[in-house]
Amino acid sequence: MAELLKRTPRIAAVHLLPKGLQAVRSRHPWIFEDSIARIPDDLEPGDIAVLFDKKRKLGAALIDPDSDIRLRVLAFGATAPDIGPELFRRLAEKAAARRRGLFGADTNAWRLANGESDGFPGLAADRYADVLSVKVYSAAWLPHLENVLAAFLAVNPELKRTSIRLSREVASLPALRRLNYEDGILRGEPGWDGTVRFLENGLMFETNVRFGQKTGFFLDQRENRARVGELAKNAGKVLNVFSYSGGFSLYAARNGAREVTDLDFSKPALEASERNFELNRHWPGVAACRHRTIPDDAFHAMLELEKRGERFAVVIVDPPSFAKAANERKQALNSYSRLAVRAVRLLKKHGLLVFASCSSRVQADELFAAVHAAASNEGFPLRELERRAEAPDHPADFRESHYLKCMYAALR
Ligand code: SAH
Repeated sequence: MAELLKRTPRIAAVHLLPKGLQAVRSRHPWIFEDSIARIPDDLEPGDIAVLFDKKRKLGAALIDPDSDIRLRVLAFGATAPDIGPELFRRLAEKAAARRRGLFGADTNAWRLANGESDGFPGLAADRYADVLSVKVYSAAWLPHLENVLAAFLAVNPELKRTSIRLSREVASLPALRRLNYEDGILRGEPGWDGTVRFLENGLMFETNVRFGQKTGFFLDQRENRARVGELAKNAGKVLNVFSYSGGFSLYAARNGAREVTDLDFSKPALEASERNFELNRHWPGVAACRHRTIPDDAFHAMLELEKRGERFAVVIVDPPSFAKAANERKQALNSYSRLAVRAVRLLKKHGLLVFASCSSRVQADELFAAVHAAASNEGFPLRELERRAEAPDHPADFRESHYLKCMYAALR
């Protein structure tokens, strides 16, 4: 890869203010500009900061001059190891050990390392069968990327192919824009277009790690998909709003749902969903299930379904993050409430609502209070059955890393 990646990182001493010291002491991996006392001003993304209070070493971090999160701490303490291949290898091993035994032979796709919570702040690594799919959310990783990839490949010998993707923010940095990284980089097999098939709880899915959303699939919803499968056993009609490639729908279909409808405004997502149904025809439930797709805006299509008098035994609502920044929280809650209204109006009596949010800016309590209030105000009070969070391969070890919440509730 190009110059930014090949650059040998500089190592600089960085002195922290009390706020920064506090962060490091509580083992928080983010240090913002206003927590830094002294830092050389000519540093580049991926240079290495050795952190100090007045004179004591406190840890080691990657420097990201373009981000509000100026330092991403990788190692804590006076004896913090150097940032380099050995540390990456150790972190990849620790992440693998943490996931050992989580999955049987019927699942071969999971998150290998979940950013900050696995010691890789600003980087996600997923496995899809033999593919390593890495997404880089901070330019600070770029000069270290080859070493990081080597660590994951060494620790997980089943991985043969690699996909590297940069977040939109990183790909559009002035230094990278002309390199056209937005579409990602594939390695490991000449002519490979990024397509991969993998198993999740015995269901087969196909995705394209180069063009699919996130790293190709929403692995964080695996356990919720399985739970929906259980709860939708022999259900009548199921509506999957924001369906992406039909994940929730396939679990419901396999377990005997009579008809499932995927609603998403992305045509490629719905085409993928149709393909995924084809790939699972050997399951009698999937073969017997009527599958319908609606390419439309969720709010608009739900209203249309209601007008046509369609009612469902199960409605799943799994929207994208509506609040990317803190000041969008109120507006997001408003959108969630509007969705909840649309959803409960489509439920049959005693029907099941599954409502998820992946916005870390909105807390579970306020979100579900808003959903309950919106439903009650419409005259459709809900009885909450359970709440769930991220899948176990997505550990969330500090406050900001909790993002996924999912509520199951029945119409009274
Ligand atoms: N439930 C899915 C993941 C959903 S991701 C799974 O288990 O895999 C969110 C999806 O919402 C994306 O596929 C995106 O294309 C779709 N989307 C975003 N905004 C939308 C809108 N206004 N109307 C319909 N679909 C939308």
